[in-house]
Amino acid sequence: MANDLAHAAKELGIKYFLISYVDLFGALRAKLVPAAAISGMQKAGAGFAGFATWLDMTPADPDLFAVPDADSLIQLPWKPEIGWLASDLVMNDELVAQAPRNVLKTTIMGADSIGYQMKTGVECEFFLTNPDGTAISDGADNATKPCYDQSALMRRYEVIKEICDSMLALGWGPYQNDHEDANGQFEMNWDFDDALITADRHVFFKFMARSIAEKHGLRATFMPKPFIDLTGSGCHMHTSLWGADGSNLFEDEAGELGLSDIGYNFIGGLIHNAEALCAFTNPTVNSYKRINAPRTVSGATWSPSSVTYTGNNRTHMIRIPDAGRLELRLPDGAANPYLAPAAVLAAGLDGIQNQRDPGKRLDLNMYTDGHKVRGAKKLPLNLLDAIRALEKSSVLRNALGAPLIEGYTKLKTEEWNAYSRHLTQWERDNTLDI
Ligand SMILES: [Mg+2]
Repeated sequence: MANDLAHAAKELGIKYFLISYVDLFGALRAKLVPAAAISGMQKAGAGFAGFATWLDMTPADPDLFAVPDADSLIQLPWKPEIGWLASDLVMNDELVAQAPRNVLKTTIMGADSIGYQMKTGVECEFFLTNPDGTAISDGADNATKPCYDQSALMRRYEVIKEICDSMLALGWGPYQNDHEDANGQFEMNWDFDDALITADRHVFFKFMARSIAEKHGLRATFMPKPFIDLTGSGCHMHTSLWGADGSNLFEDEAGELGLSDIGYNFIGGLIHNAEALCAFTNPTVNSYKRINAPRTVSGATWSPSSVTYTGNNRTHMIRIPDAGRLELRLPDGAANPYLAPAAVLAAGLDGIQNQRDPGKRLDLNMYTDGHKVRGAKKLPLNLLDAIRALEKSSVLRNALGAPLIEGYTKLKTEEWNAYSRHLTQWERDNTLDI
């Protein structure tokens, strides 16, 4: 129905299109194109200067074109005269190998060629803050254990309802909304789907939550740890592999906890590649203040620090909540919606192809008894460790391509260096008199 965008504009009353893409740092870029010009743009794409965004390019590079994917069209529920489009980046008539959406599509095609289709569902946690982001927006939201707090949820009903109504109208199948474990923190869930569909929706959800919060005089942030004493914002990823016949390949009644050998090998791959995976699932300096965190005021961080898996127990990196799927609790709100699932798929396929053994399931509370576990790997303590692990990972380099790994690690190392040159108050407090 949306194949001809000019036709779709007439049918749907769209006056402008946002032709958008996500760069290596997860930032959403766009051009606003009048419907009268969309036919040409649909064929040739909208032009951008790649270097001006977070892509490994130079000012001397030729035009970068964002060619819209007509199937991704979403009419903004809060401003229906605008149609949003995800797009694929092209330069010199070739797909850009470092572009996040291209990387995910290539990884999905590779998996498809050997009979695997990944489905994902993401749990996007976010804070509603005041407009400058310095404090949560609701002064009365100050309980020590605020999770599922009905009154705090209802004081933000107008915002949550508008976002949920939007998802209902878009047919995403939203099914629950709640106040999360930190004061000012919320989560909204919609149905899982094919990994590319979920990734596009993940991008749009963040844009939508921010836009609707702004309309209500608030700010929605997906920053992993905006308040140091409060639980951080995760983006837990529920994952399963499906066959071409529509069967869930992770499901096996006879398997331990209803998970198949393929599922356990996939977990083995996530465990084997966990440190490198963090460069994509936990991609900011701030990400490492969520994982490896000390206990928060609510009593638990709800985020992992070790590379372990378990059954229905939220204190580990991987949880098997139910037959036929796993939940990776590693990703945070800053995870790139395309690169995180691409890396998860690559790591999981490595596990299947090399029949990686995930080891024994640990049925213990990692928050209180983690010290008793022998031999489990620890997650990287900071972004630099994760970048270095990614640089060394032949698995992710082979699967996601050298142009992505080289461009990404270069820009992320520059980001780490910029952070390292920043003098903190902690250093002054602890070093001035030494
Ligand atoms: Mg949650």
